[in-house]
Amino acid sequence: MGHMDKKRVLVTGGAGFLGSHLCERLLADGCEVVCLDNFFTGRKRNIAHLLANPDFELLRHDLAHQLFIETDEIYNLACPASPVHYQYNPVKTVKTSVLGAIHMLGLAKRVKAKILQASTSEVYGDPDVHPQTEYYRGNVNPIGPRACYDEGKRCAETLFFDYHRQNRVNIRVVRIFNTYGPRMHPDDGRVVSNFIMAALQNRDITVYGDGTQTRSFCYVDDMIDGFIRMMNADDDFTGPVNLGNPQEMTVLELAKAVIDLTGSRSKIVFKPLPADDPRQRRPDITLARERLGWQPGVGLAEGLEKTVRYFEALIAGKL
Ligand code: NAD
Ligand code: UDP
Repeated sequence: MGHMDKKRVLVTGGAGFLGSHLCERLLADGCEVVCLDNFFTGRKRNIAHLLANPDFELLRHDLAHQLFIETDEIYNLACPASPVHYQYNPVKTVKTSVLGAIHMLGLAKRVKAKILQASTSEVYGDPDVHPQTEYYRGNVNPIGPRACYDEGKRCAETLFFDYHRQNRVNIRVVRIFNTYGPRMHPDDGRVVSNFIMAALQNRDITVYGDGTQTRSFCYVDDMIDGFIRMMNADDDFTGPVNLGNPQEMTVLELAKAVIDLTGSRSKIVFKPLPADDPRQRRPDITLARERLGWQPGVGLAEGLEKTVRYFEALIAGKL
């Protein structure tokens, strides 16, 4: 197949945690990849190994501004994802989600590209339905400290469906549940990276609240596979579709699992629970199973071990 025949794919937020894994996978699948990032939470080291690939192109750009390029598909991932980072400049977080969605949907409309939105389980807020199905409309506090992220992502979903109905843009919306793995930012405050970094350095592991709140953690490779399946699904399947690992656990159980796995001397200490912290979260993935034939294959022990190895190398200065 000649160079001109390759599918060109734009990945916004491509230098971030999920984005860098997606770029890698798309290149392996024979696509041309344009990786767009403003390097707010993304890092060059995440994609340094891809720079020599002639099918890879890196574009420094802020999604709050318009962009004109040619592309066949767009994966819209640009947005800080951890509470610490998205609350650092909340107005900017809303702009990235909302203006970013408008700019990418406008681009998709102009060049007739297929476009996938990285939405989030946060659209369900602090859920009073458990586990969460796509039909649940959520319980989000619109004026709380998490709202810049939650409502930004909800508005992005609104824009996706309005561009779809109004302009026939070919959309796909995935609602991502907590995902972890190599290339998570070591100090972005997310629970898996926090716990592993603390355990490896024998520092205290900080559990917020009493640790009985639950999350369900999905390994990155499974999540990327879900993205690709969703992009390639039937054109009538817009989603939203939940992607995540239904294996639910308490935050305290996660802390213990990380200590066991690393053989750490860390002690568990308790800190106050942040405002609006969801009590429980677990995806119902029936829809993804039925429509995408997708379900996670990597269990927590295996995924955590790979992630620990990454952070060990990072601490040792080998990355
Ligand atoms: P990340 O912070 O590693 O990646 C986000 C990337 O977007 C970074 O590279 C960052 O520099 C870039 N970015 C931020 N603002 C930008 C802007 N204005 N213009 C251009 N680039 C910008 O986080 P991640 O975990 O890889 O998340 C990727 C996407 O998946 C996000 O949209 C996030 O909301 C979503 N998501 C992730 C999770 C998870 O558990 N990892 C869960 C739900 C949703
Ligand atoms: N958490 C914790 N200690 C930490 C970081 C997070 O106990 O060092 C808790 C946090 O309060 C939440 C859960 O772990 O209940 C997941 O937090 P994270 O920020 O990773 O993701 P989100 O809250 O967005 O699901």
